[in-house]
Amino acid sequence: MTSIHEKYNLKQVINTSGRMTILGVSTPSQSVIDAVNVGLNHYFEIKQLVNNSGAYIANLLNVEAAVVVSCASAGIAQAVAAVIVKDNANLLLNLHSAPVNEPREIVLPRGHNVNFGAPVDTMIALGGGKVVEAGYANECSAAQLAAAITPQTAAILYVKSHHCVQKSMLSVAQAAEVARQHQLPLIVDAAAEEDLQCYYQSGADLVIYSGAKAIEGPTSGLVIGKKQYIEWVKQQSNGIGRAMKVGKEGILGLTQAIENYLTQPKISGAQMVERMDPFIEALNKLAGISARTVWDSAGRDIARAEITFNEALLGISTSEIVERLKNGEIAIYFRGYKANEGKIEVDVRSVDQQQLMTVFHCIKNLFAE
Ligand SMILES: *Cc1c(COP(=O)(O)O)cnc(C)c1O
Repeated sequence: MTSIHEKYNLKQVINTSGRMTILGVSTPSQSVIDAVNVGLNHYFEIKQLVNNSGAYIANLLNVEAAVVVSCASAGIAQAVAAVIVKDNANLLLNLHSAPVNEPREIVLPRGHNVNFGAPVDTMIALGGGKVVEAGYANECSAAQLAAAITPQTAAILYVKSHHCVQKSMLSVAQAAEVARQHQLPLIVDAAAEEDLQCYYQSGADLVIYSGAKAIEGPTSGLVIGKKQYIEWVKQQSNGIGRAMKVGKEGILGLTQAIENYLTQPKISGAQMVERMDPFIEALNKLAGISARTVWDSAGRDIARAEITFNEALLGISTSEIVERLKNGEIAIYFRGYKANEGKIEVDVRSVDQQQLMTVFHCIKNLFAE
């Protein structure tokens, strides 16, 4: 509990669910907080700050160019606006106030038109784009993507995310090949992805990341890509970008977070196991509850605690347990994807051992009642 929690009557939250926007995404490290602080305490020539921080990030990532934006959603909207407006000064100022004669269709696989917390197609519309879906809900090949391209196409959008349909989908490299054949740019939304280079290397012209998710920066977004396209994204600060302005503190905080992300060792799966061992051991002593270590289904070096509830013995459904732990005095959030199978998962990256034991006591108390 902090004085802020008391002042505004806010619940203490323990987040074992991962990078969730509804919980504030992540808690940046001290060096990122220090960079934010420097940003808040000084004036800068903002154009220089944008350009030089972008060049610094581009150099770190070995890409042509980069720019910090306010969040990944803003990155999608501004990337779409950039490929429609390009250098057209009049259109920059009138994107939504006049009929657009320039190509403005954004082609994306139908299985990528997802809701990540807000719809992808809303962000495309914000950027002045018109959504054109290619392929089927569960299938999109390179040929199906190409078949949706017309003279009105402005770009291809590829959404790389666990939210999307995965099977029978073309790869980023295949989408890049289609884009190249039709002389169109490829935009990749990789908001929550961990690899900051591979999509660019696969041939994308613009790649968008969320600043607070894997990178653990302040609320912000990152757009990397080819120089000309990044210049057009930057120009949007005089157009729709103004409604999604990133502050100097966000620019400096994210730049520091990217540097940390690339240079500092990440917590390993083995360290996660070590952190959660006492927690799992304690849970296994409770009647009707069993816990074990499980490894990330996508093959990443992430270990999580899987807790299985014997619903018949405990006389309560797992979704009800999840609900009660959310609504307790301390709000505890789990990964609840498998609640219908009587299982929940604990992601230990955002919690320390002490918080894990608090989670244990809250679970224990739930059944002591
Ligand atoms: C989280 C997410 C976004 C939005 O990122 P913000 O930085 O919160 O705007 C966009 N696309 C995907 C696939 C996401 O997972």
